[in-house]
Amino acid sequence: MTTKGNLFILSAPSGAGKSSLISALLKQTSPRPMQVSVSHTTRLPRPGEVDGQHYHFVSKDQFKQSIADKHFYEYAEVFGNFYGTSEIAIDQQLAQGIDVFLDIDWQGAQQVRMKKPDVTTIFISPPSKQELENRLRGRGQDSEEVIQARMDEAQAQCSHYQEFDYIIVNDDFDQALADLTTVVNNQRLKRSQQACEHQSLFDDLLA
Ligand code: 5GP
Repeated sequence: MTTKGNLFILSAPSGAGKSSLISALLKQTSPRPMQVSVSHTTRLPRPGEVDGQHYHFVSKDQFKQSIADKHFYEYAEVFGNFYGTSEIAIDQQLAQGIDVFLDIDWQGAQQVRMKKPDVTTIFISPPSKQELENRLRGRGQDSEEVIQARMDEAQAQCSHYQEFDYIIVNDDFDQALADLTTVVNNQRLKRSQQACEHQSLFDDLLA
């Protein structure tokens, strides 16, 4: 029997370094396969973003149809755009024993928690408000208006930090990555996981 994959949620205000942490985590060697879920969004691609890789970029009408078809595990409106996680894609990956990472906001985290109480939720925090603003400006991708809106949104996101199982402060990147790896390993080493993964070992030990 394949051990089911673990579901993780990573939430953070934009600029906290969440995407870099997830991609560094996925590059590490791991005893289990890992994938980050590719969300659907109605926002336009940023330079360098590839459809199907960073997001599935869809129109508002397509998104509304997907809601009507109950295609989403969760969905939310963030910065005036819609974002959603495909239910079937996640369930298939988990059934294959893949550990799945959802990079979603607090609204999506609340919805997934209701459906999957065993989800592990992680909040990534910037080391300070000033550093968050510096990072948003440093990306050079957004207008002043968008940066201010993202700072407001960041505050809204941060106001939900108490709803998460783990908090990682991304000051030193390597330390934050080590912390994230610890959280992931902690989940994998739980008895429920290990008993399933090493069932034949325990059958043998007890024979
Ligand atoms: P961005 O447009 O900068 O890629 O993402 C903006 C925000 O939307 C981020 O906080 C990101 O975590 C969130 N987000 C991305 N995909 C999803 C999703 O499928 N569902 C929800 N609820 N939020 C998402």
